[in-house]
Amino acid sequence: MIYGVISDIHSNLEALNAVLLQMGSVERILCLGDIVGYGPNPNECVEIIRDKKALCVAGNHDKAVLGEIDMSHFPQDGQEAVIWTLSEMKKKNLDFLKSLPLEIRQDDFIGVHGSLKNQLHEYITSVRESVPTFDIMDKTLCFVGHSHRPFIIQKDIKGDYDADVLKDGQEVDISNIYKAIINSGSVGQPRDGDPRASFCLYDSGKRIVKIKKVDYDIVSVQDKMKKAGLSSDLIEILSTGG
Ligand code: ZN
Repeated sequence: MIYGVISDIHSNLEALNAVLLQMGSVERILCLGDIVGYGPNPNECVEIIRDKKALCVAGNHDKAVLGEIDMSHFPQDGQEAVIWTLSEMKKKNLDFLKSLPLEIRQDDFIGVHGSLKNQLHEYITSVRESVPTFDIMDKTLCFVGHSHRPFIIQKDIKGDYDADVLKDGQEVDISNIYKAIINSGSVGQPRDGDPRASFCLYDSGKRIVKIKKVDYDIVSVQDKMKKAGLSSDLIEILSTGG
């Protein structure tokens, strides 16, 4: 089966549409959470994910909008974006967010927003941070989001680790890998220095993961964010990619 793996859309409709166009006809979309928060189109993004019948988990921003987690540790602009998002969202779309699980298991992978140890909050950005998740991973692959940076961390059968940034167009052959944690990057708010929307394709038959980056109309999103009164830092980060 061919999966389109996306994460951290953050209410960025232009980026999501550009990714879906570039993705082409995949058989299933896997969405790793944070559909909302930061950007100007939360309802539209939720409706697309629901209509596409994506396999989807909840992220910390989705849960913050639902009032299910304490967001006092969020930066000020993140908190303001959550409050603005809640004021905009239709009840049926909040109900969809409420229905999302914290983990998805399918084929040879698990999907989660943060980590398997702490699904909503823990970042995996280094080998050290990956160890607790590898320790409880009972599938070959774990797709994660949350850090907004594309990467792969591998663990071999001897227990040695290897970490790599994933670049546009890069392919990873999973067939000889013992276990791997893969981050597809962020659709709607990249933070790896590349402002293009990021996603990956996973062919579970050929066992190939391929990272892709795609340009989208950043200025249109920024204009909508200005009109909505969202913070200038959140607007600026779309141009710089972090
Ligand atoms: Zn996020």
